[in-house]
Amino acid sequence: MAILLAIVIAIATSRGRTLEEIRGLTEERFPGEEPAGRVRRLLAEADAATLELDRARRDLSYLIEIIGVGVVGIGDDRRITSANAAAHTLLDRPAGSLRGLTITGAFLDTRIDAIVEAARETGAASGEVRLRPDAAMLVVRARRSPVEGLWLVLEDVSELRRLQQIRAEFIDNLSHELRTPLTTVSLLAETLTREAEAAGDAIPARMRDRIAKIEVETGHIVQMVNELLDLSRIESGGSLGVLDWVDMGPLAVASTERLRLFAERQGVTLRTDLADGLPPVRGDEGRLGQVLVNLLHNAVKFSPDGGDVVVRVAVEEGSVVTSVIDHGVGIPRAAQARIFERFYKVDRARVRGEASGTGLGLAISRHVIQQHGGRIWVESDEGAGSTFSFAIPIADPPD
Ligand code: ADP
Repeated sequence: MAILLAIVIAIATSRGRTLEEIRGLTEERFPGEEPAGRVRRLLAEADAATLELDRARRDLSYLIEIIGVGVVGIGDDRRITSANAAAHTLLDRPAGSLRGLTITGAFLDTRIDAIVEAARETGAASGEVRLRPDAAMLVVRARRSPVEGLWLVLEDVSELRRLQQIRAEFIDNLSHELRTPLTTVSLLAETLTREAEAAGDAIPARMRDRIAKIEVETGHIVQMVNELLDLSRIESGGSLGVLDWVDMGPLAVASTERLRLFAERQGVTLRTDLADGLPPVRGDEGRLGQVLVNLLHNAVKFSPDGGDVVVRVAVEEGSVVTSVIDHGVGIPRAAQARIFERFYKVDRARVRGEASGTGLGLAISRHVIQQHGGRIWVESDEGAGSTFSFAIPIADPPD
C-alpha cells in the first residue's frame, strides 16, 4: 500500500513538474492561458507551418518543372539527387531516369565532371559543351549549394550561337565585298591628292582641301573594313593557330617602338617598366603585339600634349600582367563596362585631330586575350587617366 502511494505521489510530482515546465516554456507566447490550451495552439501552429512548407515546396517543384532550363541536383556522393523535365529533354533521357546516376553516367562527357569538380573546389564553375555532334549547344553552370551538394543549370544556347554565326558571316561577307572597291577608291583618292598638290595653284585651294578630305575619310573606311575582317577572322577561328613561347617584356619594348613616332607627333612620352625574370607565356606573338599596339595607340590618342604613357609588365597570381597606363581624359564609370563592345565609343568629340578610330580595337583585343585563356580589363578615373591591363596565365615552362 505504502509503495503504491509512493508511486502515485511520484507520478503526480513528475506530472506537476512537466506542467510547470510547459508553463515556463510557453508563458511568454501565451500569457495567462491554461497549459492544455497552450499545447493545442502550439500543435495548430506546427500543423499550419507544415502545410505552408508543403505548399511552398510543391510550388517550387512545379516552377522547376516548367522552366525551360535544365536543373540538376547533385549530392555529395556525386550522384544525381533530382533533375527536372528540361534536364531530361536536353540530355535526351526518358522522364525520371536521371535520378541516382553518376555525373559521368548521365552526361557521358568528362568535361561535365571537370566543371563539377571545379565548382566543388571554388564554389562556382561553368563551360559550354556540345555533348554529341547532333545535340544542342549547352551552357553548363555549376554552383555549390549552401545546404548540401551542388546544382547544375543547363541552358540550350544553340539558337543564340546560330544567330551569332549568321551575323558574323554577314559581316564577313559584306566586308569582303566592300574591301576591293574601297581599296581602289582609296588608292584613287591618294593619287588625286598627290596630283592636286603637284598642280599647285592650277587647282583652287578649296578643291585641293576637299580632295585631301576624301582621301582621309576613305582611309578611315578602309581601316574599318580591315578591322571588321580581322574581328570576324579572330571570332570564327575559335582557338589560336600557332602557339609560341612569347616574352612579354621584349614584345612591350618592340610595340612601344612601333608607336614612338606617332607619340612624338602628339607630344607624348612612351616608357616601359619591366619586372625582372619575367616567364614567357604560351601565345601568338603577332596577335599579342596587335593588342599592345591597340592599347598604346589609344593611350597616346587620349593623352594630353606633354603627357606620358607607361607599359608595365609584371607577374601577378600566376599570370603575366601587361598594363598600359596613361594620364589622359579617362573613361566615365558607366562607359567602362561597354568599351570592349564592337563600335562602342565614349564620346566622338573627345579625340584630338583627325585620329578618331573605328571602335573595334578593344573588341578585337578582348577576343585575342580570351583566346589566350586570359582576361582584359580597365581601371579609370574620368579626367585622371586610364590603365588597361591584360593577364595571360603562365604555362609550364619549355623543356
Ligand atoms: P577606337 O578605335 O575608337 O579607339 P577602341 O575599341 O580601341 O576603338 O576604343 C573604344 C573606345 O574606348 C574609344 O573610342 C574611347 O572612347 C575609349 N577608350 C579606349 N582607350 C581609352 C583610353 N586610353 N583613354 C580614354 N578612353 C579610351
